Amino acid sequence: MAIMTRDFSRNDLVDDPGKAATIVKKQALAFGADVVGIGSIDRWADAPIQMDPRQIMPECRSVIAMAFRVNRGSMRGIEEGTYFSNYSAMGYGGITYLYMPMTVINLSKFIEDQGYEAVPMGHQSDWRGIDNEGYLKKNYSRPVAPGRAAPDVMINLRIAAFLCGLGEIGFSKMLLTPQFGPRNRIGIIMTDVELEADPIYDGPQLCNRCMACVKACPGGCFDTDRRVKVNLGGREVEWIDLDMKSCGTAFTGTKVSDEPVPPEKQYNRDQTVPGEWSPFYKKPRNLYNTGQAVCGARGCTRACMISLEKRGVLQNRFHDRFRRRPTWSVDWNTPPEYPEGAVFRPQVTEAD
Ligand code: SF4
Ligand code: SF4
Repeated sequence: MAIMTRDFSRNDLVDDPGKAATIVKKQALAFGADVVGIGSIDRWADAPIQMDPRQIMPECRSVIAMAFRVNRGSMRGIEEGTYFSNYSAMGYGGITYLYMPMTVINLSKFIEDQGYEAVPMGHQSDWRGIDNEGYLKKNYSRPVAPGRAAPDVMINLRIAAFLCGLGEIGFSKMLLTPQFGPRNRIGIIMTDVELEADPIYDGPQLCNRCMACVKACPGGCFDTDRRVKVNLGGREVEWIDLDMKSCGTAFTGTKVSDEPVPPEKQYNRDQTVPGEWSPFYKKPRNLYNTGQAVCGARGCTRACMISLEKRGVLQNRFHDRFRRRPTWSVDWNTPPEYPEGAVFRPQVTEAD
């Protein structure tokens, strides 16, 4: 008997970038990606230095972007107002911090088995050197040498997915794929192997500016007067300048009160109370690191998906529509009504 290991003698990726791209894409699907596309590095020619893949891998020739679907069913419990953890765990943090890293690591191993380097990348933005608006964070990090970015460089995953042909960037700034609309998380790989690039998405129009995302966002995070226009790979793209601070608050079910809030009534910090879109007295703990999406992406994902499904533009079709009952809202000014049969633990008194 001898030890067993992987086959490092294959050279499938060497001669033909077209064939190599097909092999890599098939492998990505086999490892668990739902959609995969490739972009050539020249599409990042105008990327800001803090977001430039070549700052991480100067010899990068190709970027592979993968979309991982958020199960429509993982949003069912929030839609019904009864089961909130599933979206945060299975539709958010679990994909971002578990499923996606496994897939990008496995695909990177497949590429490195054949002698090409591959940088697996999921969501590592916690370490990035820039803030949400793209400004460098003060007293956070410094370049290690002139001409290099301040660590950590952050590749914008939605833009990468766009440049690899996976879909459109909607008016909400969400990536919309023709398969799942806004129900995606994105992982990428940078590699020095030359892979044939896919065209930038030019299929049926997905975002029609219906504004469903704007109207349904509980945090009012979309100010339609504030827009961002950029040129990505030769295409003009425009989206609403999402107020990330408001989203970061509303997303967790938090509402900021105008009045001081006593500590026992605070939702997660000073002056916060639960919004009408949260049934919880206090913000529940995070699941899989970032899973605290109590708002259940009510505007940017659920409302958008409902709109796109209604128009019949998505490939992942369902037998029944998503919204089957009226939307709910919690009235925090009224006492709760618990269902018949629900009992609280009896109070134990000293006399007992
Ligand atoms: S909800 Fe409508 S406007 Fe908003 S991103 Fe989706 S399709 Fe575009
Ligand atoms: S995550 Fe929630 S709060 Fe943030 S933009 Fe989407 S719908 Fe609005």
